[in-house]
Order: sequence, then structure tokens, then C-alpha cells
Amino acid sequence: MALIVMKFGGSSVRDAQRVQNAAARIAAEHDKGSDVIVVVSAQGDTTDDLIAKAAEVNPAASPRDMDFLVTAGEQVSAALLTMALGKMGYRAVPLTGWQAGFITDSNHGRARIRRIETERLENEISKKNIVIVTGFQGVNRYDDITTLGRGGSDTSAVAIAASLKAEKCRIFTDVDGVYTADPRLVPTAQKLEAITYDEMLELATLGAQVLHNRSVEMAKKYNVPLEVLSSLEDKPGTVVKEVAKMEKMLIKGVAKDDRIMRISIVGVPDQPGIAYKLFSLLSSLKINVDIILQSIGRDGTKDITFTVALEDGMAAVQALEERKESLGFTKMVWDDNVSKVSIVGAGMESNPGVAAKMFEALAEANINIQMISTSEIKISVLIEKASSAAAVNAVHAAFEAPQ
Ligand code: ADP
Ligand code: ASP
Ligand code: MG
Repeated sequence: MALIVMKFGGSSVRDAQRVQNAAARIAAEHDKGSDVIVVVSAQGDTTDDLIAKAAEVNPAASPRDMDFLVTAGEQVSAALLTMALGKMGYRAVPLTGWQAGFITDSNHGRARIRRIETERLENEISKKNIVIVTGFQGVNRYDDITTLGRGGSDTSAVAIAASLKAEKCRIFTDVDGVYTADPRLVPTAQKLEAITYDEMLELATLGAQVLHNRSVEMAKKYNVPLEVLSSLEDKPGTVVKEVAKMEKMLIKGVAKDDRIMRISIVGVPDQPGIAYKLFSLLSSLKINVDIILQSIGRDGTKDITFTVALEDGMAAVQALEERKESLGFTKMVWDDNVSKVSIVGAGMESNPGVAAKMFEALAEANINIQMISTSEIKISVLIEKASSAAAVNAVHAAFEAPQ
């Protein structure tokens, strides 16, 4: 029997009516004769609300305790969805991440899935039960509850689909597919029929929150057919797959990330080994460094500027401050009033005018570029945060296909 994994995001189960709507979509899939495993997120803003509650009690709560807290949100949704299906006459079983067999590493708040022990899931499916699994969570080897990071329910869904070789993993959300830019930000954004895993991975990593980037990484690795579609309207969404035809636009999409910090260390000795010291320190703290810029040495010193995710920013600053002497810098400055705006598209490499076109659009909108980084399929610029929405719109307009 074909197994379908369906994932419903927070806004798709935000109240009783949406829960009933999701239950109806699940029931319809089950009626077709498919085996169905559902992954569900916390209702609406529940995860944010739980994080705010913790901050009231202890702003420095441990990552382990935070994971214990926030996973409660998903448990509520799974229970309600099961009850809604029960009322409709369907047999559903709610399972927490650990009941469903999700074993992760111990990186609380950003855990990686090690494996899924699938016996329980398979057992429920063999009884023709609909299984409702709480998203974005598992347990480590000490049986402590872990989470996969914000937005991680997409990854839970793809992980189940990969482990059980599901026919399809369908991500139901509050937009009807993947667009050339966030449709809430860019009214003229166009829906994509299909997008490649690589392009989607870049877009997700560069800030398009419609899919958790690790879910795309995993879907590519295990060749899981992935689809993003509306939980409210019954129409085709966007298919994420290995090969997708070129759309009318020269690029696949524009994304922005406002959760960034730029850090500069000034006056470091212009000698071998400094960059190594700096970045190995950050990597030992599991802090990912993104765009890096090193100035030309002058009078025996140079400056190094780089960006990190906002949530890692202060930890990076603190670690560097502690090593000020051994790194030998005279001054450190940091700024979180920045955003990264990126364009993504596989066709970019063979089109030399792409970068110039992006920079022209920003220049015409009078937006100053602080840093630039490029790869085969993306170009990113760092700009001031206040201009990020204008920048996305300007860049999108420059690449828009004539209607
Ligand atoms: P869910 O709660 O279902 O997981 P998310 O809020 O995580 O939903 O993701 C859906 C949101 O992603 C949309 O509401 C949209 O604003 C945003 N988004 C950002 N970039 C894009 C894009 N390129 N295409 C579609 N949606 C996007
Ligand atoms: N509820 C979690 C979050 O808000 C996980 C998810 O929605 O995917 O990040
Ligand atoms: Mg999401």
C-alpha cells in the first residue's frame, strides 16, 4: 500500500476550524486507500508564546529545559487532530517524537536526527491506523527530549518519508506553493510549478522559511518526492525534485534573512594563521560563519569582517572578546541592523549579467551594499535592515518575466 506523509504547519491547525479542515484533508487521503502518517506543528504562535513564558521565568533557561517546554505545543496539536479524526469516525493514534522512534544527537535546540526506530510507526500503519506524529522533536541517547530547530517539523516529515520509503511527502501550509519571493512581501511573486532540490535548499537556507532547509537536504539525499501546497485550497502546489525546467525568469527566487549579525575585528596582525585561529574558535562553538571579508593588510595589520546567525551573535562576540589578546585585534564592532538579500537560480553561472543586474537594481533603489558573496547558484548581499523589503522588491522586479 502506498504510504503518504502529510505535514501541517502551525497556521494550518491554528484553531478548531483549521484542525477540522486538516482532519478532512487527512481523511480524504485515507479514503483513497493510502497509508497515512501525519506530522503536525504547534498551533499558530504557540511555540513563540512558550518561549516568551520561559523568558518571564528565566531568560537564561537551559537549552535542555527549553526543549522540554516547547515540544508541549506539538503534543496539543497532535491530540486535537486525533480527536477531530475520531469524531469523523477515523482511527488515529497520536505519537510524540520519542514514541515515533526519533533518535537525535544531544544538540538541544538544533539536534540532528540520527535514526528513526520505525517499529511503532510500522505497527500502527499495519493496523490501518492514521498516525499523527508531533513535529520537530526526538530524544537523545539519554532519553532527554530534543528539538530540531525552529521550523523543524518539515524535517520530521521528510525523515519519516525517507525511512519508510513513502510515495510522497506533502507539506501543507498557508501559501499554495513556493514562489519566486515571499508572496507576503512581493505581491507580484510568481508561483513555481517545480524547483530543484539544490535551488530550494539555497532558498530555504537563505531565509525563505516555507521549508526547513534540512528537510530539503534530506529529501535530496534520500530522493523523497516533496510537494508544498495549501492546506486550505485543493490545488496543485510546487514540486521539489532533482530536475526542474527553467521558468520564464532568469533566476528561481529572491530571499531575505533579517536574523543576521555582522562582526568585525579590527587591527589583527597581517600574518599567517589568524583567520585559522578565528574561524576554528567559532567552529569549536558550533557557530556557522557566513559571508567573510578580509581587508588588504596595511601597516602590518588587517581587518576581518564576517556574518553569523543572530542567535549565535553574542556568543561569538563574547568568545572573541575572551581571546582578544591571542587573536591580537585592537577593536571589535558588531551590528545586527543588517539583512542578507539573495538571488538563487541554477542558470546563473552561464549568465554573466546576473550579478550586475542585481547590483543595478539596488543602486537604483539607493541601497548600499556592505558585503557580497557568490556561489554557482546564488548571489547574496548584506545591506541595512531597514531597506530589506525594498531591496527584495527592487531585485525581484529587475528579474521579473514580462507578464
Ligand atoms: P508553516 O507554519 O506551515 O510551517 P511557515 O510560516 O513556516 O509555515 O512557512 C510559510 C511562509 O513562508 C509563508 O506564509 C510565506 O510568508 C513564507 N515564505 C517565505 N518565502 C517564501 C517563498 N519563496 N514562497 C512561499 N512562501 C514563502
Ligand atoms: N513549532 C515549531 C516552530 O514554531 C516547529 C515547526 O513549526 O516546524 O518552530
Ligand atoms: Mg514552517
